[in-house]
Amino acid sequence: MPFINSQLSIAIVGGGIGGLILALQLQADGFKNVEIFEASRELKVIGSGINLQPSAVLVLRNLGLLPALEATGIKTADLRYYNQYGHHVVSEPRGEVAGYLIPQISIHRGMLHELLLKALKERLGHDCVHTDHVFTSYTQNETSITANFTKRSNPTLPAGIPSKTADVLIAADGINSTARKLLYPNEGPPNFSGRLLWRGVSKRAPFLTGRSMVWAGHADQKFIAYPVGREAELEGQSLVNWIAELRVRDKDDPDLIPPQANSGKVVPKERFASKFQSWTFGFLSIPELIEETKEVSEFPMVDRTPVSRWSVGRLTLLGDAAHPLYPSRIHS
Ligand SMILES: Cc1cc2nc3c(=O)[nH]c(=O)nc-3n(C[C@H](O)[C@H](O)[C@H](O)COP(=O)(O)OP(=O)(O)OC[C@H]3O[C@@H](n4cnc5c(N)ncnc54)[C@H](O)[C@@H]3O)c2cc1C
Repeated sequence: MPFINSQLSIAIVGGGIGGLILALQLQADGFKNVEIFEASRELKVIGSGINLQPSAVLVLRNLGLLPALEATGIKTADLRYYNQYGHHVVSEPRGEVAGYLIPQISIHRGMLHELLLKALKERLGHDCVHTDHVFTSYTQNETSITANFTKRSNPTLPAGIPSKTADVLIAADGINSTARKLLYPNEGPPNFSGRLLWRGVSKRAPFLTGRSMVWAGHADQKFIAYPVGREAELEGQSLVNWIAELRVRDKDDPDLIPPQANSGKVVPKERFASKFQSWTFGFLSIPELIEETKEVSEFPMVDRTPVSRWSVGRLTLLGDAAHPLYPSRIHS
């Protein structure tokens, strides 16, 4: 085991998936002085599905979280591609079925977040996460770095709230990272791919193997569906996560600024549902799946141009703050 200074003080900005896993890994590596500063007032189970490939599950397995992941998510067995008419194109086994020693796990993002937070509080104590701390700026010198915050619940506080001085500061504050803006003030908003995503989750009868992921359509109109909930599976049901994707801006349009209004917001299904009206496949009716889903959220598909460095002195970017990617591949 390499020598570590277990008292090194490490401040993490952002209690999302990256921030929580980093804190768990640091704790496992022997660091005791780790704190997270999260902008939200409350950490709640929100979002839809996420797919953890075996390489990511391995990291979580090594943190002792595989039993909790398996009790919460679905061990994805196969990925099946179809065209827009529901004709089968090709299938491939996934995770353990494909011969990996570690499964691929499809899971509800909010439940993954809840599971990580529970493990972190058990291991580092309940006081390690400070909510309602919006990171605004920092200063650093040769021996320390200081992060400054304001409150989301009261952003007009003249003096903000107490700052945090630490040995290092890691900014895991997501794709619209404040830390990245401070390092790269001229970067502007993320790059828009020209495609919008609509996402929803619905409990229903299982389709195909009950552990199958379906990708249908083509680069400009796509539908992805896969089950994410073990509890529903034990009841003989499927908690199905789905994503509808449409090109809304021309391929050659030089405008890369994403449409802002509805990012992550619940929107009416009329914005996209009619385009999928005829996508009724033998094993799955996409119009029915959309119809039965209570809430649908809209996201622009965006990423960012890579930057030359993620670390400046005692500050480092991590996760989407450092290298945001599209949530699914684009086939053009
Ligand atoms: C629609 C969608 C689907 C996706 N599907 C997949 C998938 O299937 N598989 C996969 O691997 N990845 C997927 N991703 C990507 C994955 O969710 C992200 O890569 C991951 O969540 C990034 O983690 P993060 O911790 O860097 O950022 P986030 O999880 O976004 O967390 C950032 C945190 O920082 C907080 N924060 C923001 N600003 C501040 C501030 N100023 N001060 C303090 N806190 C702040 C936020 O409140 C948030 O809690 C998807 C992403 C999207 C948008």
